[in-house]
Amino acid sequence: MIRKIGIDLGTVNTLVFVPQKGIVLNEPSVVAVSLDDNRVMAVGVEAKRMIGRTPDTIAAVTPVREGVIADYRMTEAMIRYFVKKTLGRVRLFRPEIMISVPAGITSAERRAVIEAVLKAGAKACYIAKEPVLAAIGAGIPINEPSGHMIIDIGGGTTEVAVISLGGIVAWASSRVGGIKIDETIKNYIHRVHNLAVGERTAEDIKIAIGSAVTQKEADILEIRGRDLVAGLPKTIELNSNEIPKAVHDTLQEIIKTIKKVLQVTPPELAADIMDKGMVLAGGTALLRGMDTLITQETGVPCYVADEPLLCVAKGAGIALENLELYKRALFAKK
Ligand code: ADP
Ligand code: MG
Repeated sequence: MIRKIGIDLGTVNTLVFVPQKGIVLNEPSVVAVSLDDNRVMAVGVEAKRMIGRTPDTIAAVTPVREGVIADYRMTEAMIRYFVKKTLGRVRLFRPEIMISVPAGITSAERRAVIEAVLKAGAKACYIAKEPVLAAIGAGIPINEPSGHMIIDIGGGTTEVAVISLGGIVAWASSRVGGIKIDETIKNYIHRVHNLAVGERTAEDIKIAIGSAVTQKEADILEIRGRDLVAGLPKTIELNSNEIPKAVHDTLQEIIKTIKKVLQVTPPELAADIMDKGMVLAGGTALLRGMDTLITQETGVPCYVADEPLLCVAKGAGIALENLELYKRALFAKK
């Protein structure tokens, strides 16, 4: 019987964590809607499959954009669907739900998230700021009187926070993440190789051979697309060491966000961070050399968390099981 559910509502992926079971659901944050009557046709994996393949009457929407909820009705539909899928058929209790929200959320946005969660069938809703949950999920002892820095680089945003005694002391966020990196790679191939490729291909390239810093041994990847001059299908060979140059400016925006937080961190906490290093979470933490680049540019050691894609969801689960311990970091509504 499931009584507690933790949700990581991301721009790209939504994950659901259930205590004692772990991550039970991991699906794209996508909803397919029919434009005639605004009806929800599909959610998650099924909706993502429709992107680029839908007739004019169906649109695939991503309700969470750049870390904020851009479409409440669709977000609610998505949460409802994921909760239902998690609980299955037999439902004797309404679950308690813990959900992550961006650190910069306004009180109106927070109320709307709570509303959506309660409407989706929850008995109680706890919300916590995403960097706090990422830190808990990364195994950082956030309640210690010591400074810890967490850097969560997801699809739509980068959120950087310094946490001490269970609360956020300094933070900054920017609307740069994996999606922007994909766009940059796509534009680079377009400009330099005269080849048109889609966003999905650009993401595949990033995951296959992408890197934040130049590697000693380069990989070569064959890429298929459409020649921009002749208009016909063409194959090119891409060298992996082209990627760090192509994405340089985009990654510098991430570095700028990290530096902004370091600059306003109280000196004692800065010393703690220098000592222990900064922790990287989120899917983009998996970009090769991301930790190396951040260390080079800031002079502060940086480590990738275990399973960076799962940190926020795991953190939500851990916080849910230890509400008393993390109460300073939480906001609850019954
Ligand atoms: P969000 O929290 O915004 O939903 P996630 O933390 O789930 O985002 O991360 C999704 C992003 O991580 C996507 O942009 C995806 O391309 C990127 N990503 C996933 N795996 C890798 C990888 N191995 N290398 C580089 N980027 C990756
Ligand atoms: Mg995330």
